[in-house]
Amino acid sequence: MCLFGACQSSSPSSRAGSTPLQKPSQTYATQHVILVVIDGVRYSDSWGDSTFSNIPNMARYLAPQGVFNPQFYNQGVTLTNPGHVALTTGYHQKIKNNGDELPRFPSVFHYYRQHTGAPATDAWVVTSKDKLEVLARTYSSDSAAAFAPSVNSGIKGLGTGYRDDTTTIRVAKQVLSRHQPKLMLINLREPDSEAHAGNWNGYLKAIRQSDRLVADLWKWLQKQPQYQNNTTLLITNDHGRHTGKNFESHGDNCEGCRHISLLALGPDLKRGKTVTQPRSQADVAATIAELLGFPIPKRDGEPMTELFQEHVHLGE
Ligand SMILES: [Zn+2]
Ligand SMILES: [Zn+2]
Repeated sequence: MCLFGACQSSSPSSRAGSTPLQKPSQTYATQHVILVVIDGVRYSDSWGDSTFSNIPNMARYLAPQGVFNPQFYNQGVTLTNPGHVALTTGYHQKIKNNGDELPRFPSVFHYYRQHTGAPATDAWVVTSKDKLEVLARTYSSDSAAAFAPSVNSGIKGLGTGYRDDTTTIRVAKQVLSRHQPKLMLINLREPDSEAHAGNWNGYLKAIRQSDRLVADLWKWLQKQPQYQNNTTLLITNDHGRHTGKNFESHGDNCEGCRHISLLALGPDLKRGKTVTQPRSQADVAATIAELLGFPIPKRDGEPMTELFQEHVHLGE
């Protein structure tokens, strides 16, 4: 019953209550998921360059062990916070880009903890950009909002500035060793920062550093008994950059800003394959929930089952 029009505005909680759930269809070998977001890398400067000169490790070492989608896009606002929020919530929110606004909906981290009862140390947001601390929060009044993940962002959290990507990877490895989380997001920001500074060579160098850092992370994971053969690694971007010579900036709907990439490795995923079904960031949260076996409200995305090995589908 609606009195005085009070029910007319649909709050996140009332929406969440009526949103259908996406439930996992089966169980998987994946026990941990790590999502690495390399900030602001244009497709044409990475996978779209046929020599792979800036991503030799991803193209020649990681891709043969995983599955690549060259048709992966930012279908929302092509800025850092909106891109990351689409990845973590499966919803294209026009969220502010400066850290002043929280996500409208709980994230895949919140739903993971709510469903499993896992402690906050089982889900982590580790980011070079301090403004991404908002990924661990939400203004939703959904019951899942109480299950925030742990967060380690920027120099010392929101408002304290950006830090180096090598520091972020070091922190991420410390957390992985100490807490053995099931779910982690890592943001690497240096390609975006170098490009905004107008430093073309610095931008390419930062892409090459990111390429090295993610390959080293995968090698390191495969040497840890607790992560070996049971960890899925997803490597993507928040947005690209303007097409053509104007590489410094981004934020509109041009091909360069929207076209990003997805490389995925893990025990349940295809190896040495390319899949070409057009996908977007909104499909990532649903895919993580499917692999880790918990329900999540259906928003703008769905599980990317085309990434999965064929035998995984036999039980369906
Ligand atoms: Zn940027
Ligand atoms: Zn653009």
